[in-house]
Amino acid sequence: MPELRLTVIGPGPAYTRRRGRTSSCYLVEGGGTAIVLDLGQGSFAALGARREPRTLDAIFISHLHPDHHIDLVALRHYLKYGCPTATTVPLHAPGDIRARYDVLNGEIGFLDALPGPPLVAGRRHVGALVVQAERVTHTDSSYGFRVTLGDGGPGLVYSGDCGRMADLLALVRPGDTLLSEAAWGVNDSIDEAEHLTATEAATVARDGGASRLILTHVLDEGRPVASLRAAQRVFDGPVQLAAPGLEVVVGA
Ligand SMILES: [Zn+2]
Repeated sequence: MPELRLTVIGPGPAYTRRRGRTSSCYLVEGGGTAIVLDLGQGSFAALGARREPRTLDAIFISHLHPDHHIDLVALRHYLKYGCPTATTVPLHAPGDIRARYDVLNGEIGFLDALPGPPLVAGRRHVGALVVQAERVTHTDSSYGFRVTLGDGGPGLVYSGDCGRMADLLALVRPGDTLLSEAAWGVNDSIDEAEHLTATEAATVARDGGASRLILTHVLDEGRPVASLRAAQRVFDGPVQLAAPGLEVVVGA
């Protein structure tokens, strides 16, 4: 039986003083297919240490805050100038991303080495994997993802950045592994910035029947270790803090 495997590449939040914590990036592999969810600052190099980037079957970007995608600049340069032959990797990202990169880099078609349609809600097959994207409350165009091997079995649910528990709960099926942001950690939410606390992430894991919870994207000020304990008080299953290189077999 093929395994669905998550490798945490970048567990960092939008900024951090913690050494080695590059921002949002998660490698998902199964059945000979490999995708990346988000590619935040510093994560291109961290990803490259784990897997040759040009062998990726697709990249999915949850939303257009740069801490979730800005290393597409590095990846694009690598695909264009660092590979022996012209190489492309399919990109699934909110529709504005191409115009934004053209302006940022002063070059029309900057992301042409990363072709792909605008990300919309729904399911799509990528090799052996099925990726379901659904809108979540954060920016105007933010998505969470559920990744499975084929059409069955337990999945990996990734929150992206998500300010409302109900949005994330809608993606979770019993037995899933929930990889959830908990940016606020043990602090109170700030209304105008849509993120979850550790307790809220754990509530989603509990109510959705998840088999495992991995907290990620926790701000330094959110107190990650206290966040872990807060989540354990709500959710009975295993809870971990995402760390660089953490590997999890989904459903195991
Ligand atoms: Zn964000």
